[in-house]
Amino acid sequence: MIFKNKKVTVVGLGKSGFAAAKFLQNQKAIVRVTEASEKKDALENATYLRGLGIEVETGGHTEAFISGSVCVVTSPGVPQSSAPLQWAKQKKIPVISEVELASYFCKGKVVAVTGSNGKTTTCNLIHRMLSEAGNPCVLCGNVGFSFLDAIAEIGPNTIVVLELSSFQLEDSPTLRPDIAVVLNVHPNHLDRHQTLENYARAKENIFRNQRKTDLLILNADNPRVRQMAGKAKGHVILFSKRELEKGIFARGNEVMSKQKASRILFRRDPCQLKGEHNLENMMACAAVAEALHVPLQKMRKTFENFKTLEHRIEPLGEVAGVRFLNDSKSTTVDSTKAAILATEGPLVLIAGGRDKGASFASLEEVLGERVRQAVLYGEAREKIAGAWKLFSRTKTEKDFRQAVFLAFEEARPGDTVLLSPMCTSFDQFSSYEERGQVFKHLFEEIKLKHASR
Ligand code: ADP
Repeated sequence: MIFKNKKVTVVGLGKSGFAAAKFLQNQKAIVRVTEASEKKDALENATYLRGLGIEVETGGHTEAFISGSVCVVTSPGVPQSSAPLQWAKQKKIPVISEVELASYFCKGKVVAVTGSNGKTTTCNLIHRMLSEAGNPCVLCGNVGFSFLDAIAEIGPNTIVVLELSSFQLEDSPTLRPDIAVVLNVHPNHLDRHQTLENYARAKENIFRNQRKTDLLILNADNPRVRQMAGKAKGHVILFSKRELEKGIFARGNEVMSKQKASRILFRRDPCQLKGEHNLENMMACAAVAEALHVPLQKMRKTFENFKTLEHRIEPLGEVAGVRFLNDSKSTTVDSTKAAILATEGPLVLIAGGRDKGASFASLEEVLGERVRQAVLYGEAREKIAGAWKLFSRTKTEKDFRQAVFLAFEEARPGDTVLLSPMCTSFDQFSSYEERGQVFKHLFEEIKLKHASR
């Protein structure tokens, strides 16, 4: 698509909106940007863009900004119900994501990954493995580095490892990844998608435009994902924790690939990533790597060296025989379940924050067995306590800091204090990263206090 001298409106001034505005300006489009908030980051981005001669409005939207645009580029944080997207709809102006826009200019091969949980871990693994094997590749999308910002470095031989959220997939009507991966579909973002089915359908956009020669990698253990095989147009590779007739699967300590012949891809023991959820991520990565002919030694070396990413069941250390794990990135019930199952010994679990409309009851089966004490904080504390009262001992504390101190008081030597909140951080923090950093500081504070006793 040629944007020269065409009017394009960008909605939202976060990372992707900022990247889209700069990119379109370079394409010599007539760019307008509209942003609802007046937060510091947005205002800084606005000042920068105005310096480039781009017209920017903040603190609200006006309809005139949208009128006459050839398309509207939206950001993942902007709900479909927001005024500018509704105006665009009424005026029959196409609304596209920053990812869709980038795909028009992408010359490389795209490996795209979606799922409710495990996207960032899996994308980082794939990127590391492909790099180890000597492939030029870039990591972008929902991981924090926008696809558009990466375009300049993507040549015909580059492999683009692209993390995609359901929001990005909603407005990407022609995106066609060469390899698409769906890790899992669990209830998430129901505040925005309303039903699990809407959410799952948004995820299916990842392979909607695929052709026969493309590849779709699916988790056979997740029933809603397994079902997607019936709609696939490309070649499907399944992966599973149970033995399959064909595909990639775990057999005890070994992960096998069974296509025409079978072979061992890697052994789990030497891998640094632990837990059944990470086994899924590693199998998805192995399926991509095998399809792209990564040598087995490179695959194994990557799995053996790859440590968990920050804020994802990240070990912090020990105080008085109590281990601390930071899983601040967990904002869903299923990722907290994964963390509980991946952790050994009795747990003092810190959970809470801002509720995304989840049902907390599905943790019942693991609570009684594994969680000795739950400390619930923030806006969602009473709702969680209500759902868990029959299955776990719960205490509530409004403030995060107080909750962390309380968790340490409750812990006995040999226990693990696990922060795995199941909720977003936005009631008390600007991001899960900030919540994780505060948790790390509190851990250091507890350690110091304990040492000076
Ligand atoms: P995403 O990018 O999809 O949010 P991350 O890799 O950042 O995924 O992990 C987010 C949270 O989900 C972390 O708490 C992590 O421990 C957990 N997690 C990672 N992989 C999986 C998986 N396959 N299934 C369930 N939970 C997972």
